[in-house]
Amino acid sequence: MARQILIAGNWKMNKGAADGAQLIKDIKAQFGASCSCCCSGKKPEVLVCPTFTTLSAVVAEAQGSCLLVGAQNIHWADQGAFTGEISGAMLKECGVTHVIIGHSERRQYFGETDATVNQRLKAALKNGLTAVVCVGETLAEREAGTTNAVVERQVRGALADISADDMKNVVIAYEPVWAIGTGKVASDEQAQDVHAFIRGLLKTMFSCPCVADGTRILYGGSMNAANAAGLLAQPDIDGGLIGGASLKPADFATIIKAATKA
Ligand code: PEP
Repeated sequence: MARQILIAGNWKMNKGAADGAQLIKDIKAQFGASCSCCCSGKKPEVLVCPTFTTLSAVVAEAQGSCLLVGAQNIHWADQGAFTGEISGAMLKECGVTHVIIGHSERRQYFGETDATVNQRLKAALKNGLTAVVCVGETLAEREAGTTNAVVERQVRGALADISADDMKNVVIAYEPVWAIGTGKVASDEQAQDVHAFIRGLLKTMFSCPCVADGTRILYGGSMNAANAAGLLAQPDIDGGLIGGASLKPADFATIIKAATKA
């Protein structure tokens, strides 16, 4: 089954509304008058995920192009006393279609657990959003030889009670924690091995082979203009979740072009 490549930019806590709108203009400028990617055929989907206060400006600037816009988090409740959080309905109202869930920075600094990732995923699906669910091991876990066990626990935890039908709106991002923002990228083989493991795991978790065959698994962790082509050429790597390089229009465009050839 052909899986459409997804190139997703995680802007993290960078770019206010004015700078974010400018970044979208700059990304579009890399592609001339046509839209930045395209929604058909073999071309990759392109997603940007700004911070909450930048979402509306970026949605407005992306209109008329093929750029998709997502948020970086979602709460499981529809509304209520959850200071600092945001609901699915609020995100929909901003015009976003996607949301990142369970990024390692959320797990590391904000107490995100497999159980809360699962709750947030259910809220995303209930609100008709496509979720990019992040998993990945720390350096200590890799060195202890527990990468697959950690990733399995995270995938099973995130996807508890999620149906095969729901999986049409779930993307998994394998992001080794030791590679995020460090400049230390996983080798093509290291990344492919874990992606193949995750696909095999999906095969055992869902009786319909459509889930393992159809679910996109992105790689994230210091993907850049120089290493993207090798990673994206791997059979089980269906795109990238990109932090630092997604803030540099020329580099982001080079990654999208590499994805177009993959
Ligand atoms: C990320 O934030 O998901 C990420 C992969 O960051 P970077 O590309 O900067 O390593």
